[in-house]
Amino acid sequence: MSYLTEERKMIQQTARDFAVNEVLPIANKLDSTEGEIPMELRAKMANLGYFGILIPEEYGGLGLGVFEYALVTEELARGWMSVASIIARGNGLWGGINDEQRKSYFPRMARGEFLGAFSLSEPDAGSDLSNVSCRAVREGDEWVINGTKTWCTFADGADFIQLFARTSMPDENRRHVGISQFMIEKERGKLPPGVSGAPIRKIGYFGWKTWELHFDNCRIPAAALMGQEGRGFYAMMSGLETARVHTAARAIGLARGALEDSITYSQRRVQFKRPIAEFQYTRFKLAEMAANIEAARQLMYYVADEIDSKRRCDKEASMVKFFASEMAERVTSDALQLHGGYGYTRDLPIERYWRDARLTKIFEGTSQIQLRIISDRLLGGGE
Ligand SMILES: Cc1cc2nc3c(=O)[nH]c(=O)nc-3n(C[C@H](O)[C@H](O)[C@H](O)COP(=O)(O)OP(=O)(O)OC[C@H]3O[C@@H](n4cnc5c(N)ncnc54)[C@H](O)[C@@H]3O)c2cc1C
Repeated sequence: MSYLTEERKMIQQTARDFAVNEVLPIANKLDSTEGEIPMELRAKMANLGYFGILIPEEYGGLGLGVFEYALVTEELARGWMSVASIIARGNGLWGGINDEQRKSYFPRMARGEFLGAFSLSEPDAGSDLSNVSCRAVREGDEWVINGTKTWCTFADGADFIQLFARTSMPDENRRHVGISQFMIEKERGKLPPGVSGAPIRKIGYFGWKTWELHFDNCRIPAAALMGQEGRGFYAMMSGLETARVHTAARAIGLARGALEDSITYSQRRVQFKRPIAEFQYTRFKLAEMAANIEAARQLMYYVADEIDSKRRCDKEASMVKFFASEMAERVTSDALQLHGGYGYTRDLPIERYWRDARLTKIFEGTSQIQLRIISDRLLGGGE
């Protein structure tokens, strides 16, 4: 059975054309100056429906599945990983909310007018998410937030921050209970009142800033609580498989960019009076890169289809996140090697693919955390 129906091929081709013609030139220009994803590009993405792929048609989205979401993500990431990432800031990716909230938020998300930043990580809560200590305390008809968050990408440019904060003190054996999620609506381009912060000096994933945030008596309305109080951790977990497929798609898109550029370059670059593509090492290396990318892609198609078919696939979602991101780092590094010294410059996008691929092994659960999930399913137990 082929996963790629005619309709899916069309969706893929449209995204491919868009990425090559609209995204790639902008990425090549803005990444090296740490510029931001332009609003005009976002408007074009909104017109194509990319912020509403997963949002049901009744709310103005495309009403498609995780499979189509992955197809579009791979293509956008081939252009620029940050552009493939920003679609996850709409798309109704929000667990544990009610119909009224969906009606209010999803149509605006689908139009790309209401995009979020995700604020879960803290200085002492990285892989161990249940260690969240940022506090939300109810005072009358408000919540008062105090604490420090870190790694909040897009905190300034977003229209809202999806915040995870502790609403009750943890029971040592069930530390994930008592964390709640909040919608902090804000003015685009600013941090919310009561929140200060500074961008982190990261080495890639440009196109938007990633922030450390300090909440100092930040007051939000009672209605900003999303889902059930104390159950935010479960709501967050409900979207993890989709997030892992999305990250795998980003890794695959980057690796494909590196392969395509390497094929072109090796056919042009002449050494010892021959294009380097004639050396067997180069040919075998390109073949190995292509085989690894295809293996990751087929696993991604399988997992996306399992999610869309509502079958349990947490282990496989961790496998594809792990395999695709490790593969992308290897493939982009091999591509850099095939470009020789030119690969190690900012004049070609190869170094960008490599820097961005490196991140896919860290965020959305590190490679080690994926191995932990997979091995726990294989062997049971764990630490
Ligand atoms: C550029 C960037 C953007 C990000 N954007 C966001 C964002 O928008 N919102 C957000 O909330 N977060 C974001 N993050 C945070 C990201 O999700 C975390 O960095 C990630 O979860 C890892 O946490 P940590 O950095 O604290 O590493 P740690 O958890 O401290 O891990 C350090 C090392 O220890 C290993 N390790 C930890 N626990 C175990 C274990 N049990 N077994 C074996 N090894 C283990 C890890 O694999 C890693 O190698 C971003 C991070 C980066 C770098």
